[in-house]
Amino acid sequence: IAAKEAYESLLQTENLPAQVKAATLQQLGWMHHTVEHLVDQGSKDSCAIQCLQKSLEADPNSGLSWYFLGRCYSSIGKVQDAFISYRQSIDKSEASADTWCSIGVLYQQQNQPMDALQAYICAVQLDHSHAAAWMDLGMLYESCGQPHDAIKCYINATRSKACTNTAALTHRVKLLQARFCNPQTGSVAGGKGGKMLPSIEEAWSLPIPTELTSRQGGLNTAAGSPGPQAQQQMQFVSLLNITFFFYPSTFPHFPSLSLSPTSFLSFAVFPPSTLLSLALSLSLHPSLPPLSLLSDLGLFSTKTLVEANPDHLVEVRTQLSQPTDENWDLSGTRKMWRCQSSQSHTTIAKYAQYQASSFQESLRVSRGSGAAWRKKGPFKHIKFGTNIDLSDNRKWKLHLQELSKLPAFARVVSAGNLLSHVGHTILGMNTVQLYMKVPGSRTPGHQENNNFCSVNINIGPGDCEWFSVPQPYWGIINDFCDKNNINFLMGSWWPNLEDLYEADVPVYRFIQRPGDLVWLNTGTVHWVQAIGWCNNIAWNVGPLTAYQYKLAAERYEWNKLQSVKSIVPMIHLSWNMARNIKVSDSKLFQMIKYCLLRTLKQCQILREFLQASGKELVWHGRTRDEPAHYCSICEVEVFALLFVTSESNSRKTYVVHCQDCARRGSSNLDNFVVLEQYKMDNLTQVYDDFTLVSQQGD
Ligand SMILES: [Zn+2]
Repeated sequence: IAAKEAYESLLQTENLPAQVKAATLQQLGWMHHTVEHLVDQGSKDSCAIQCLQKSLEADPNSGLSWYFLGRCYSSIGKVQDAFISYRQSIDKSEASADTWCSIGVLYQQQNQPMDALQAYICAVQLDHSHAAAWMDLGMLYESCGQPHDAIKCYINATRSKACTNTAALTHRVKLLQARFCNPQTGSVAGGKGGKMLPSIEEAWSLPIPTELTSRQGGLNTAAGSPGPQAQQQMQFVSLLNITFFFYPSTFPHFPSLSLSPTSFLSFAVFPPSTLLSLALSLSLHPSLPPLSLLSDLGLFSTKTLVEANPDHLVEVRTQLSQPTDENWDLSGTRKMWRCQSSQSHTTIAKYAQYQASSFQESLRVSRGSGAAWRKKGPFKHIKFGTNIDLSDNRKWKLHLQELSKLPAFARVVSAGNLLSHVGHTILGMNTVQLYMKVPGSRTPGHQENNNFCSVNINIGPGDCEWFSVPQPYWGIINDFCDKNNINFLMGSWWPNLEDLYEADVPVYRFIQRPGDLVWLNTGTVHWVQAIGWCNNIAWNVGPLTAYQYKLAAERYEWNKLQSVKSIVPMIHLSWNMARNIKVSDSKLFQMIKYCLLRTLKQCQILREFLQASGKELVWHGRTRDEPAHYCSICEVEVFALLFVTSESNSRKTYVVHCQDCARRGSSNLDNFVVLEQYKMDNLTQVYDDFTLVSQQGD
């Protein structure tokens, strides 16, 4: 009480510096919350909250005040306010284990175990001796029927000097161990058929994409001391101020989006207000937003882009400005499928200038006749700034960081994204591309490379119009392209809607407003046109599902028949998946295993054949992150045994061929060296080790 009065009198002081005032109010507020009988019980919390709010008025950047405020809200059940305060706290200060721990508690109360888990893991990675976080995590695991993991957490809690109830925890551990060892009641899975959380090892070891490639990395740091990997994670977490963990098991939260091959809901538009509502409407426990919100679209506005990297390269397509849903020839006399466009290059700054002047010009024109759009040609030319590469993390750090706040299923990099397991960059697929548009800018019809999914966000300020057709109808569109002498895979085409309607092809047509995220499911055919002046960002995602894998593999084979390069090296990817991922979906497992078996067999036959014909294999191995190889002639993926020309081998430039193309150039392979990238033992080992992981409830 003396302290309270001292603080209150200090606050009466005139011209009190804001910092002092903020600190005093912070102390006072926290005192109200923690000390009993300071004021009457009824006004205790409102006093605490008032003080902390005033403190934040004086110093809005105090992470600690925000944290205290969150605790107060949490204690009176104001969950949303608590959550917002904690988020503020994390944004304002160094990542703090206390804050993450409290966020975990909040999620746990809201019955969002997965989010709680992520928050607790954040806490213990920031402070490995955070007894409270370990204990809460243990309780979370217990409540999810995972005593095994609970025990590990409790033991970690008791190891901490800060642990206040070591005796009780030790007792609990003994109890669990006793029950756990009893085959009658205890099983590793435990639980009541509910969804299991990732084990503590998985939770601890999955976060960093680059770490995905090495399996050993994660497992031995589990629940032990934070190894170098955990150190990296800590830096990562504090850098981003956001949790950064990925689980394949996050996907079942979004069943209608990516999992159902029969569903005609092959795309979805998410409302602009927030991505929050998307997560809310789809996740199983819709109480709090997930720890991920795209907050700053402004980073991708033209102004900010010019400021960041004015000289960055932009590919330009010069196109005809057409009526929104039609495609005419230059004279405007005939509708057609073929799209006219020519390619050139410029810079972000120069395109920005064009974008701005095109807007100003439109203001002048619209004061004149408004009927320009209804007239059929001759059409004027417009320029579409496309495929702008944002992969360079040094140039686009802030921008890419912002995108890491998206929900896991839509992130550029995540453990549940097949493209994160390729192990190397595929520009525009597992990296971000930017599109700068004026009205009429057209992305002609296509499916994504190897039928992958894609994520597209409209930055605004104008709208885009989308047309899309579910994957099962791609063959009909392929036929239309054939009829019009255009290559479906490589050509540039804009479907005539009347043709599609006549053929009973369903076309989904919708407007993408600024802030809208469009998710295109596996293999969806689509074409897009800008209605206003806007920028878009886009990348690809491969959900870890049997459906995605199957369609990617089918397109891989179709591409071979069509002599088109498969941008996703499916064999290389399949082997990486076998090394990095535990698969519990038996359909997906069987398909991967079959692919491995086929390549294994093919390698074996080829080796035996080469050896029998006296051709020596030269051991070459693979460097870390070495890209997959393609034949320099026919562009087919070449796996394990590379046929390189002798002269390129001696220059170490390695011009790779497939066997067929090598033999076409030199039937007895005299001009070629065969480089061996994997030992058969190693491949066989990977094949044998790749087993179906049983999933609870199966
Ligand atoms: Zn070839």
